[in-house]
Amino acid sequence: MKYISTRGQSPALAFSDILLGGLAPDGGLYLPETYPQLSAAELAEWRELPYAALALRIITKFVDDIPACDLKVLVDRAYTERNFHYTRNPGTDAADITPLTKLEDGLFLQELSNGPTLAFKDMAMQLLGNLFEYVLEKRGETINILGATSGDTGSAAEYAMLGKHRVKVFMLSPHGKMSAFQRAQMYSLNEPNIFNIAVTAMFDDCQDIVKAVSNDAPFKAKYKIGAVNSINWARVLAQIVYYFKGYFAATKSNDEKVAFCVPSGNFGNICAGHIARMMGLPIARLVLATNENDVLDEFFRTGLYRPRATAETQVTSSPSMDISKASNFERFVFDLVGRDGDKVRELWSKVDKGGAFDLSQSAAWQDIGRFGFVSGKSSHADRLATIRSTWEQHGVMVDTHTADGLKVAREHLEPGLPMIVLETAQPAKFEETIREALNREPVRPKELAGIENLPQQVAVMAPDVEAIKAFLVERVESRE
Ligand SMILES: *Cc1c(COP(=O)(O)O)cnc(C)c1O
Repeated sequence: MKYISTRGQSPALAFSDILLGGLAPDGGLYLPETYPQLSAAELAEWRELPYAALALRIITKFVDDIPACDLKVLVDRAYTERNFHYTRNPGTDAADITPLTKLEDGLFLQELSNGPTLAFKDMAMQLLGNLFEYVLEKRGETINILGATSGDTGSAAEYAMLGKHRVKVFMLSPHGKMSAFQRAQMYSLNEPNIFNIAVTAMFDDCQDIVKAVSNDAPFKAKYKIGAVNSINWARVLAQIVYYFKGYFAATKSNDEKVAFCVPSGNFGNICAGHIARMMGLPIARLVLATNENDVLDEFFRTGLYRPRATAETQVTSSPSMDISKASNFERFVFDLVGRDGDKVRELWSKVDKGGAFDLSQSAAWQDIGRFGFVSGKSSHADRLATIRSTWEQHGVMVDTHTADGLKVAREHLEPGLPMIVLETAQPAKFEETIREALNREPVRPKELAGIENLPQQVAVMAPDVEAIKAFLVERVESRE
């Protein structure tokens, strides 16, 4: 299996060659040359498998340059009950890794946030940590991951890379802008390979610093700067697995179809659902839910993709979906336009200059129905109402992002078609809105009680690129 770029001008590469990198040299995103197609016999066998075994079956279809026996070790180590034990809904079993809860006839919630940082990013990141360590070891290389986070991604990356050989993590976060819980999650880590930097600026400034460092090519090469952002192909790959798991849990036979509703920001999560469907998983609908930042909802309703200026991005109570452009969306558009790299390059030549594109008059748009997408959006008031009604009617507490999903899912229910809403975080991460909605504290895994009182380690720094580079150099060069 080789990987090609969505912009058609980069050489095809093997999985291990794209694992540690970001964008393809032509500026595109990597995708497999073709999507493996499932036979009915395979799907029947997979139905019975536990999570890790299912993950191995799916991942080996995309990875042919790591021996299956090694891959099995990495996958088994990632998808254990020990890593995903923070279940809390009545009757769910942590051994399922992504357990399904039935809310009512035809409406299910699939828990993806039982990992160490209580958000679905752990699902992919836990595997990524093992893959990175393995490939770096094989090659005798090291990597220094530099990232910016507003909460979920940075903590998931840090917990995935804890104690990993050959990997150091430098994570910038906006000083004083994350919730007390999120700060505690990251800053209470006391590991020699994890470095938290609280920048006295906004999240966008943190991102700009990461960009400035990465754009310094000699520095990047010399200090082996890498990233684990949402365009990483291995993250999308790992996410494909839970669509299969959710499908099997919600149905009794492989003749049935389902819909998935996915709270979306960067289009990473739902991109995996799209690929599962392209492989032949019987998904009738992919329901994309946004908050007030509705770039993607607008596209699926109108054919116009109009990324917003960062200043236009609204700060909402589902902050992990507050995005101005959807970095994984290019992968879907590549398929939509018939995998025509020239066409994608033409469209993104506008996007990369801050512009938009409109496909509403194109043949591709006429035929978009074959991909099964529909969409909707939600507001702060919708989130509060959904959190309340789900708590009152079902005794299940959902976080703000999942509430966006539930609200939009209800608008797209079809008789006879089970709808699976992906739960992307636990309510404990977004206490303030839970208090506002329910006038009570969110439920929190008992192991994390009082995490805010642990000693914290964080370097507070000004948004000064040179100073941050110097901080990094000193720690990369030191031998512990
Ligand atoms: C990252 C995140 C999302 C958005 O996922 P995408 O893959 O970027 O679409 C939604 N909810 C939560 C809680 C997240 O952390």
